[in-house]
Amino acid sequence: MEHKLLIYNTLTRTKQIFKPLKEPYVGMYVCGPTVYGDGHLGHARPAITFDILFRFLTHLGYKVRYVRNITDVGHLEHDADEGEDKIAKKARLEQKEPMEVVQYYLNRYHSAMEKLGVLPPSIEPHASGHIIEQIDFVKKILDAGYAYESEGSIYFDVKKYNKDHRYGKLSGRNIEDLLETTRELDGQSEKHCALDFALWKKAQPEHIMRWPSPWSDGFPGWHMECSAMGTKYLGEEFDIHGGGMDLIFPHHECEIAQSTAALGKETVHYWMHNNMITINGQKMGKSLGNFITLDEFFTGNHKLLTQAYAPMTIRFFILQAHYRSTVDFSNEALVAAEKGFARLCESYARLQKLTPSKETSMEMKNYRQLCEDAMLDDLNTPIVISHLYDATRIINTVADGKATISEADLKELKEVFDLYLIEILGMRVEENSGAANDAYKGAVDLLLEIRKQAKTNKDWATSDKIRDELARLGFKVKDTKDGFEWSL
Ligand code: ZN
Repeated sequence: MEHKLLIYNTLTRTKQIFKPLKEPYVGMYVCGPTVYGDGHLGHARPAITFDILFRFLTHLGYKVRYVRNITDVGHLEHDADEGEDKIAKKARLEQKEPMEVVQYYLNRYHSAMEKLGVLPPSIEPHASGHIIEQIDFVKKILDAGYAYESEGSIYFDVKKYNKDHRYGKLSGRNIEDLLETTRELDGQSEKHCALDFALWKKAQPEHIMRWPSPWSDGFPGWHMECSAMGTKYLGEEFDIHGGGMDLIFPHHECEIAQSTAALGKETVHYWMHNNMITINGQKMGKSLGNFITLDEFFTGNHKLLTQAYAPMTIRFFILQAHYRSTVDFSNEALVAAEKGFARLCESYARLQKLTPSKETSMEMKNYRQLCEDAMLDDLNTPIVISHLYDATRIINTVADGKATISEADLKELKEVFDLYLIEILGMRVEENSGAANDAYKGAVDLLLEIRKQAKTNKDWATSDKIRDELARLGFKVKDTKDGFEWSL
């Protein structure tokens, strides 16, 4: 490729020119969700960030194999090493099969991602479907001498590994400092050192999700699935591994150690991490009461939200920040993003209706080049958005009859918006005009009239069904003293 795509590599801490191993093929692995609860903003950001990368690499002409895993084996609550299996706990509380829990939340995750305009990955492997590969990987590490068995479990020997390789190079930590801040082992521990992590864990009698292995009936350690599935589908060396910054340590650090120990080489060429999302300046957390699920955003059903937000508003809000900056969610910021995106949509609709003149009477920048340059500079989506806003000045001035645009420039503007706003940023722009639109508005009004009638008749089932289904489709319905208001 002639393009020079710069991406920031977390491992080298520099922006590097992206050069795939086997052009035009690109292998890309992103850590996906653990499916035991509803998706929230912490799921939306990496999904959207790497969706942008997937779309842009494809636009540049690469053939991308995008693997995003599903974590569905019974990892434990605390650092995946202690406590109860998170999925089994949910299954016990909801009286379901663990795989029923997984499927339920996976379906909901897929639906939320679809609403957010996130393209499905090329392969979505389940950890539970790759137990054999994970056992093989553990065997390789044992054979290389970097792991030991203890009471039926297998642990990675961090100290031994650190003598030959450097443990901590991705996160910039070193083992001495880590040892100082880690609590001492209590003598009962199966581990030789507090930093050692499980590659295979023997299942306690009450543990439901378990598989046979040469060492015990048990389940793989959390970090193992990504090493095993990444190399299975992308090869022992592949181009890009991504995820949220919270995964750098210990998850990705341990992945590097596992792959280096088993294969004797570095698997990943470019490590990419998106920054985190805070809510009103605070970390998201169930205990802080600021944990907002994606569905709650889409329905507005949360005390911190004054209204429902269309999935495209959430996507736009995330893209207004560079993926390596922090994003702080607040109701006000979302309202602003909604307005900002509505302005772009309005201009996009006006653009479709412009008629060309002989010549362009305003200065027209090379928006295609400007947008591409911004994307090539480590996926700078906020700059792309600012160029699109800049171009709306031309659209609106021409539409207001105060300037003219040539046929060629009009065609170029339409192509730039279709390429950058829709194809690469992945925004869905609803063009609300014409007879079909009037009919659709009439149909929604009719449904809401039926709902009003149902409420008068105290038929709550019908009234709730209409409200919930409309919300699910992205409608915002507000009851007013005279009746109702709605918007999409
Ligand atoms: Zn992972």
